[in-house]
Parts: sequence; C-alpha cells; structure tokens
Amino acid sequence: MNITFLGTGTSQGVPVIACGCTVCTSTDKCDKRLRTSILVEAEDKVVAIDAGPDFRYQMLRAGVQHLDAVIFTHEHKDHIAGLDDVRAFNYFQQEAMDVYATSQVQQALRREYAYIFADYKYPGIPQINLHNIGLHNFYVGKLLITPVEVMHYKLPVLGFRIQDFTYITDAKTISEKEKNKIKGSKVLVINALQRQEHISHFTLNEAIAFAQEIGAETTYLTHISHRLGKHADVSLELPPGIKLAYDGLQLTL
Ligand SMILES: [Zn+2]
Ligand SMILES: [Zn+2]
Repeated sequence: MNITFLGTGTSQGVPVIACGCTVCTSTDKCDKRLRTSILVEAEDKVVAIDAGPDFRYQMLRAGVQHLDAVIFTHEHKDHIAGLDDVRAFNYFQQEAMDVYATSQVQQALRREYAYIFADYKYPGIPQINLHNIGLHNFYVGKLLITPVEVMHYKLPVLGFRIQDFTYITDAKTISEKEKNKIKGSKVLVINALQRQEHISHFTLNEAIAFAQEIGAETTYLTHISHRLGKHADVSLELPPGIKLAYDGLQLTL
C-alpha cells in the first residue's frame, strides 16, 4: 500500500492569506500546507480521502493519472469543496466517480452541489455514484476499509483503517469502542491543530497523548495550523515515533 499526503494543513491552509507570521513567511517547503487529504493506492485501487478546495492542484502536483474513488470523512468545506473537479477523471475514464459518504455527508453534498443532483443536468457537470457508508466495513473493489467514528466537537467524523494504516482527521474525542478498531495499526495519522486548546480539534499535546495511547510504530500529525509553529522547530520537540506530516510525504506499508 502506498500513501501520499496531498495536504496537511487546517481549513485555511498554510500560509494563511495575508498572514505575515514566521510560519506563513517561512521558505521551508514543509511549511506549505494545502488542505488535508491523502491518496491511498492499494489492491489495484487509487482512492482520495477527502476532496477539499485544493483538490485540483493536489491531483496535478501528485501526478494522479487515474482515480477510482473519493471517500469523505465529513462535510466541512475544507474536505468537500473540490468535488466539482472530478470532472476531469469523468472525462478521461469515461465513467462516473465512486463517492463514499455517510447519509449526513450526502445531505450536505446534495445541498452544496445541487446542480450535480438536479433533474435537468447541464452537460459537463460532475458525474458521481454515491455509496452510503456508516460504521460498518466496506470495500472499494477488493480494498477493505474500516470506518472509525471520531467526534469533531458535536459532529461525527469518519476516520478509516485500511490494513495496518489508520487515518484520522478532525478529531477531538474518540470513544473506547472506536479506539479498539485503531489499536494494532503500524502507522497512525491523527490531527494536531495547534498548542492552544480548541473546541473541536486535538491540540499538539492531546495528539501526542493519543498517539502514545494507541502505540503505533509511527504516528504522523496532520491538519496543522500556522499557529503550531515551523515544521523544523516542532519536529525537534516530538517524542520518538511521532512526526509531523508534510505535503508530498509518501509512505509504503
Ligand atoms: Zn478539517
Ligand atoms: Zn501565519
């Protein structure tokens, strides 16, 4: 299985428009974070988890030539705003894009992308096949995916375990039952927004404590704000086995 981090930034991305802070003005390419998303290549399938506002550029930057599916974690704009750009894959693959989402996320998609679901479909609009997912395992082709429910303040968000890899974004709390699905993962990805307390995101310390509780061989932190600090500085203070993700990072499991 190959994983590519397409984006590792929080909802505004890093740099933030018009911000002059030391992180936003850093010349380190690890401090350039598009909105959070990953590409998973396994079992002959190529799958994007989330398609936020940077989706088009992320596909171009990673050189993605074929995409089989988009799986959504939740309906916030930084995770769904790029769905319109599956049109290019519709055109070249001559098929609708398979989209996996909970019924709650599907409601948001029908609202935000009313034209995709309209009775009269304007020529050239995105073509998608919606697949309903919940808390049960599902397959994309032969690729088995286990949803893990986490809470983003009061909003349920899905993380996904795929073989020995677990990807969680936008978590603040996770029940013991859902934690059990994660345990035994070799690689864990978890969100770490900033150092300051936040109502709906793990802080850096909360993410570290969670990583240590799960005990994966390596944990990568994602969904990072400019307030966390520079990649190079923060990396120096992390415990062994815990690293900051960065855009373009690739893992092979
Ligand atoms: Zn988010
Ligand atoms: Zn900044």
